[in-house]
Amino acid sequence: MSAPNGHASSSHSNPNAPPRQDALLNAADALSYLDEYPRGDGLSLHELIDSRQNGGLTYNDFLMLPGHINFPASVVSLQSKVTKNIVLNTPFLSSPMDTVTEDRMAIALALHGGLGIIHHNCSAEDQAAMVRRVKKFENGFITDPICLKPDSTVGDVLEIKATFGFCGVPITETGKMNGKLVGIVTGRDVQFQDAEVPVKSVMTTDLVTGSAGITLEQANNLLRDSKKGKLPIIDSNGNLVSLVARSDLLKNQNYPLASKVPESKQLYCGAAIGTRPGDKDRLKLLAEAGLDVVVLDSSQGNSVFQIEFIKWIKETYPKLDVIAGNVVTREQAAQLIVAGADGLRIGMGSGSICITQEVMAVGRPQGTAVYAVSEFASRFGVPTIADGGIGNIGHIAKALALGASAVMMGGLLAGTTESPGEYFYHEGKRVKVYRGMGSIEAMEHTQRGSVSAKKAILGGSDNAATARYFSETDAVKVAQGVSGDVADKGSINKFVPYLYTGLQHSLQDAGVRSVIDLQKESRAGKVRYELRTASAQLEGGVHGLNSYTKRLFA
Ligand code: GDP
Ligand code: GDP
Ligand code: 5GP
Repeated sequence: MSAPNGHASSSHSNPNAPPRQDALLNAADALSYLDEYPRGDGLSLHELIDSRQNGGLTYNDFLMLPGHINFPASVVSLQSKVTKNIVLNTPFLSSPMDTVTEDRMAIALALHGGLGIIHHNCSAEDQAAMVRRVKKFENGFITDPICLKPDSTVGDVLEIKATFGFCGVPITETGKMNGKLVGIVTGRDVQFQDAEVPVKSVMTTDLVTGSAGITLEQANNLLRDSKKGKLPIIDSNGNLVSLVARSDLLKNQNYPLASKVPESKQLYCGAAIGTRPGDKDRLKLLAEAGLDVVVLDSSQGNSVFQIEFIKWIKETYPKLDVIAGNVVTREQAAQLIVAGADGLRIGMGSGSICITQEVMAVGRPQGTAVYAVSEFASRFGVPTIADGGIGNIGHIAKALALGASAVMMGGLLAGTTESPGEYFYHEGKRVKVYRGMGSIEAMEHTQRGSVSAKKAILGGSDNAATARYFSETDAVKVAQGVSGDVADKGSINKFVPYLYTGLQHSLQDAGVRSVIDLQKESRAGKVRYELRTASAQLEGGVHGLNSYTKRLFA
C-alpha cells in the first residue's frame, strides 16, 4: 500500500498503520489519504468491549470520538423503541421508586416524550388511582366522560372538580353516557351558584355538537370554529357517545413530543408490580385503569416466579406490554425472552443508592451489562432499558451507544418538583429524600403501617420493596440500598428539555442524526471509541480552578 502523492519510506510494525512518510503530502489529498487507511482512530464498539476481557466497563471508562457534523443538533431524532410495541420520542423512563415516580412525574415525563413507571410501594388501589389520573390527563375523544342528570346539583359538579380536576360535564337524561344529551355544564356555569341549585337551571342547552363517526381532526375543527371549550359527540338519536376538550388541543400543541397511544391520544403509562400471587389482583386493577406497560420489578429477574408470571400476563392480558428484569447477562435475558418479555431492564448494583455489589457480591459493571444484554436481545427484536447509574447526559448517550433503546433514571429525576415528597433543608441546601427500594427505610415503609407480617408472607402485602429483593419472609432484613437526599433540580418541565437538548448535541458531536444511526454506525465500526485512563478521567473533569460554579442549564 502506498500513500497518495507520497513516498512510503519504510513499513511500520503495526500492519494497520500507514507507512512512514518522508515527503509532505498534498493537503487536498487528506481525505482520500484516510480512505487508504480506513481503520479509523480509536476502537470499534466490539474492540472497546473486547479490550476489557478481564474486567467490566462502566460509563466513565470510555468516550465516543467526534464524527463529522453536517446538520444542526435540532434535527437529531431521539425516537426509540422501549418495548416491542411502544415507541417514545424521548428515550427516558423514570424508576418505579417511591421517591421518584407517582402520577405527577408520570404525566410530566410523558408530556415530554418519556415514560413514567409508577412505583408499587403502596396499596393496589392507590397505584391504580395514579394510573387512572395519568390516562385521564389528555385525550382525543373522551369515550367515557363523566356525566350528570338534569336533577343533579351544582354541588355534584363541584365534587367532580375536586375529584378529577375538571368540571365540563355533559348532562344527559340518564346521567350516563349513551343517554340523550340535554345540555352541558362548565366551570363558569357553576361559579357563584349555591351547591343545592339543580344543574338544569344553570346548564347551557344551545349546544354545538359533532356527529358520531367524524374524525378527530374534523372534531377539532368544529371545536375551533365554535370557540367552545367542549364538543359533545352524539349519534343520530341525539345520544352522547363521546366528548372532545379544547384544552387537549392546547396540550397537543404545547407538548409535541408527548408519549401518546396513537388511537386514543391518551398518555402512555407504566407501572411496576412484583411477581407474588397477590400481584395478579394488583395487575387486574391497574389494567382496568388503562395501564399500557407493566414492569416486573425484581433485582434479579431470572427466577421461576418471574418466568411463570410473564407467561401468565401474556395469556391473560395479551395487549399489555411486559418489561422484565432486571438482568445483566445473556443467560438471564434468554430465559425472559423465551417467556415472552416485550422489553428488558438491565442493571444490577449500578444504581446511585445501591449497595448490592458490596453486600451480595453479585452484579455487573453497567457498561458491559448493557452491551452484552442489548447485543443479545436485539437479535430477537427485544428492546432494552439501561437502568441505574445514569448521572449525566454523557451517561445517557453512552448507554444508547452500547445498544440500550432507552435509559431509566432514579437519582437524576429525584429532587425535581414532580417527584414525590416535600423539600427540606440539609446543611443549607434545598433537598428531597431519595432512597433505594432495598433500603431499610423503604422496606419498613408499610410494615410500620397497616400490613401484618402474615399478609406480607402470603403475598398480599403492600410492601413492594421486600419482594423486589426476595426478603419478605426473612426475620432479618438485609439492606441492598441506602436512604439519602438529593439537591433540588427544579421542574421536569425544564430539566427534561435540558437532558433532551444535551443528548441531541452529544449525538451531533458523534456525527449521527438519530439514536438508531448511533447504534447502527456503532455496530458497523464507524462511530469510534476510546478507553479513558484514570488520568484521562481527571483531565475530562473540571480541574485547576480555585473555585467555580457549575450551572448545568439556563
Ligand atoms: P374543564 O373545562 O374543567 O372540564 O377542564 P379542561 O377542559 O381544562 O380539562 C379537562 C381535561 O381532563 C382534558 O384534558 C380531558 O381530556 C380530561 N378528561 C378526562 N376525562 C374527562 C371527562 O370525563 N370529562 C372532562 N370534561 N374532561 C376529561
Ligand atoms: P399529531 O397532532 O402530530 O399527533 O397528529 P395526529 O395525526 O396524531 O393527530 C390527528 C389529529 O388529532 C390532529 O388534528 C391533531 O391535532 C389531533 N390531536 C392530536 N393529539 C390530540 C389530543 O390529545 N387531543 C385532541 N383533541 N386532538 C389531538
Ligand atoms: P439511579 O438512577 O439512582 O442510579 O438508580 C435507580 C435504579 O436503581 C432503579 O431503577 C432500580 O433499578 C435500582 N434500585 C432502586 N433501589 C435500589 C436499592 O435499594 N438497591 C439496589 N441494588 N438497586 C436499587
